[in-house]
Amino acid sequence: MAEKARKARLYKLEGEKLVRLRQPCPRCGPDVFMADHGDRLSCGKCGYTDFKK
Ligand SMILES: [Zn+2]
Repeated sequence: MAEKARKARLYKLEGEKLVRLRQPCPRCGPDVFMADHGDRLSCGKCGYTDFKK
């Protein structure tokens, strides 16, 4: 899978707003997005995990 195609899917256009579907990793920076596991978000790069409230 191409890296560019994957990044384009992280955003979706909802009306006039660009909605961010995923949270960027606080450790890796805004270019790395965290995977949604339902009750938590985790970074596949550094392993950082953030539990949802
Ligand atoms: Zn990370």
